[in-house]
Amino acid sequence: MSKFDDGCIFCKIVKGEIPCHKVYEDEYYLAFLDIAPIDRGHAILVPKSHATDLLTLETEYLDKLGGVIAHLCGELIAKLDAVGLNVTSNIGARAGQIVMHTHFHLIPRYEGGDPLNWHSGAGDHSELAKLAERIRGEE
Ligand code: AMP
Ligand code: ZN
Repeated sequence: MSKFDDGCIFCKIVKGEIPCHKVYEDEYYLAFLDIAPIDRGHAILVPKSHATDLLTLETEYLDKLGGVIAHLCGELIAKLDAVGLNVTSNIGARAGQIVMHTHFHLIPRYEGGDPLNWHSGAGDHSELAKLAERIRGEE
């Protein structure tokens, strides 16, 4: 059985069929910048296997999750000089889930920023590309 769902946009990103601004990858997980960031460096972490939400994610992916999130939070804060970070996962349409492939929003927060701001705006692709390089440590 395929690990992927043909109609799923995050599966297409994992398979490389749709480009992304990658910030992290290992055997189990991929993280890339959100195209409509809430704050600078807003990243999306996805398992490299389709599951609608955390409740149906396979155990081997669940087992790796905590370590990956902690690592990525640390990298985003350090590389972007952030002073905090929100981690959220929307489970179900009523919780605001639009893409039905489980994912975590990692949203760095900055000195002087508004912690109550949850508005997203279309990101500039060249800025996102530079930011992703910085997070990957390539600049
Ligand atoms: P939600 O399902 O509401 O938790 O959020 C889905 C998130 O995925 C939104 O913040 C979108 O901006 C983001 N998103 C959708 N398509 C893409 C894409 N092709 N590349 C990066 N982020 C995306
Ligand atoms: Zn998927």
